Amino acid sequence: MTPRTQQEPNSKPLISGRNSTFTPSLDTVQQVDIRQREFRAASQRKGERWTLRTPTKRDIVARLERVSAEDGLRLKQCCSAFRVLTCGQHTLRSYPTFRCKKPFCPDCAAERATRLGNQTEAKIAEAMQTHKGRLCLLTLTTKNAATLGGGLSKLKKSFANFKRKKVFKNHIRGYFGAFEYTFNPKTNDFHVHLHLIILRGKFWNQSDISDAWRDVTGDSFIVDIREIKNTHKGVKEVCKYPMKPANLMAMPDDKFLEVIKMKKGTRMFISGGCFYNVKLDDDADDADDNIFSQFADLTEGDACPFCKQELFDVLVNRQQHIGLHELNAMPNVVKNNSS
Ligand SMILES: [Zn+2]
Ligand SMILES: [Zn+2]
Repeated sequence: MTPRTQQEPNSKPLISGRNSTFTPSLDTVQQVDIRQREFRAASQRKGERWTLRTPTKRDIVARLERVSAEDGLRLKQCCSAFRVLTCGQHTLRSYPTFRCKKPFCPDCAAERATRLGNQTEAKIAEAMQTHKGRLCLLTLTTKNAATLGGGLSKLKKSFANFKRKKVFKNHIRGYFGAFEYTFNPKTNDFHVHLHLIILRGKFWNQSDISDAWRDVTGDSFIVDIREIKNTHKGVKEVCKYPMKPANLMAMPDDKFLEVIKMKKGTRMFISGGCFYNVKLDDDADDADDNIFSQFADLTEGDACPFCKQELFDVLVNRQQHIGLHELNAMPNVVKNNSS
C-alpha cells in the first residue's frame, strides 16, 4: 500500500469538518429521486416490471403534503440528515438522525426489509438444525376487498382457521410470513395476500392445499406452493413484500388516506410452529443501521482502522450521505475486509 499524502485534490474529503451544516429540503430528496429514476429506467430496460409501480419518496411526499401536512413533514424529515463517524476518508458508521418508521416510507421500508432479512435467515437456519423438512414458499390469496383493513382482517381470520386444521398441522412444521397488498385502480379495491415460508414435513400438493384453503375462506382457492432452492433469496423475497410501497400514486384520496393512516402496530408478519422465534425486533435502535457493525465500538477521537487518522462525528445531509457512500473510499473498506 502506498502512503497517502494528505491534500491530494482528487482525494479531497467530501465533508469539511465537524461543523458541517445541513438543511432538510426536498432538493436533497430530489437528487435521490433522480438516481432512483435512472435506476428505474435501467430496470425497465431489463424488463423488471415491479419498478413501474414503485413511487419515489418525492412522489409520496408531494401527495402526502396535500392530504396531511403533518405526515408529509415527517416523511420529508425522515433520513434527511445522518450522523456519520468518519476520518474524512473512510466512512465507518452512519445512521439517520430521524426515522419516521412509516410502513409506506421507502427509506424505512428498505431498512426494515434488510434488518428483518438478516434476523430471519439466521433464525430459520437455526430452527432447521433440529427440525427436518423442505423449505417452501406458500402464497395464499383472498378475493379483492374494498378496504385494506377489511381485506387484511379477513385474510388474518382465514389463516387463523387454516392453521388450526388437521391437514395443516400434518404437513407444516413451521411457518413465517408476511402480508402483501396491492391496489387495483380499475376495480378500485385492494388485493391482499399472504406469503409464507414454510417447513414442509410431508409432501402436500397444490390442489389439496387449495381445497383446504377454500374450506376456510368460503370463496377463495388460489394458492401457490413452490420449493425454495436458495434460502437467502427466498427469505429476502418474503421480507420485502410488506415493505414495497404499493401503487400509492394510483389510489384515490380515501384509499390513500386509509393506507397512510394504517396503525403503526398493524402486524404485517406472522410466525409459528418451529419458526415461532422468527420475529422482527422492531424496537431495535436506529444505531443498528450501522453499515459495518464491526466498527460499532469505535467513537469520536479513536484512530481510523484504515488510515490511523482521528475519527470525528459529523452531521451530513441526504445528498452528502449518498456521496459518502458512493465516492468516499467505501470500496477500500470493503476490499480491506474481504482480503
Ligand atoms: Zn421513514
Ligand atoms: Zn481513515
